[in-house]
Amino acid sequence: MLSLHEVTAGYGGTTVLHEVTLTVGAGEVVALLGPNGAGKTTLLRAATGLLRPRAGRVELAGTDLTGRPPHVFTRAGVCLLPEGRGIFPSLTVRENLMVQARGRGLDAAVTTAADLFPILGTRLRQTAGSLSGGEQQMLALARAYLTEPSVVLVDEASLGLAPIVVDTIYEALGELARRGVSLVVVEQYAQKALAIADRVYVLRRGSIVHTGRADETSTDELYRGYLGIP
Ligand code: ATP
Repeated sequence: MLSLHEVTAGYGGTTVLHEVTLTVGAGEVVALLGPNGAGKTTLLRAATGLLRPRAGRVELAGTDLTGRPPHVFTRAGVCLLPEGRGIFPSLTVRENLMVQARGRGLDAAVTTAADLFPILGTRLRQTAGSLSGGEQQMLALARAYLTEPSVVLVDEASLGLAPIVVDTIYEALGELARRGVSLVVVEQYAQKALAIADRVYVLRRGSIVHTGRADETSTDELYRGYLGIP
């Protein structure tokens, strides 16, 4: 499905990613873990056309998209859910959904979103900025889902959320996966991501230092061995 082959990328004079290879298959969930500053966000940017690799290739279902602009990735079904969620805080929930509804019509978009997160259906007239953090994340996920993506890359979905809300968000990510959407889930804290992932990659200082099946990866090993947490 989506793959990066030996991608090297960075900003100005700084190289952040060093020959990173990562793949996510159709309907697969991949967890991308790593300490602060390891380059996780940079990898997502390179995987979605927001950052042009200096070397290497980015492919979607065998088509080379390296160096193509972000809208080409979007149109091809690659959707980035950025840290900070990327919703419009001063617009209502309904308007946020409307922006993404495109050809399908607003009613269908609202029904789809409310089916995924019933609470959103009760908040349609509220501004997105007045929602709780968890509800904002749900709205962001619903908006991503409305683009009918084949791959969604999620940057730190649980950042700043209470544990019970994090559970809801991860249930929703699991639901997207069950509906056949491939996921790349970036997390600084491993447990939740590992629970829904098929495979895991650990990024450290811009290089993949571990990859394997999620059910064969212990969190202890990850914390001590790769993430530098005692
Ligand atoms: P975090 O968990 O803190 O988001 P991360 O693993 O996502 O970390 P990145 O945000 O990809 O890491 O950052 C990797 C490195 O690239 C860091 O050293 C950061 O300072 C640097 N960096 C990120 N964005 C830019 C930018 N726009 N210009 C220059 N350097 C940047």
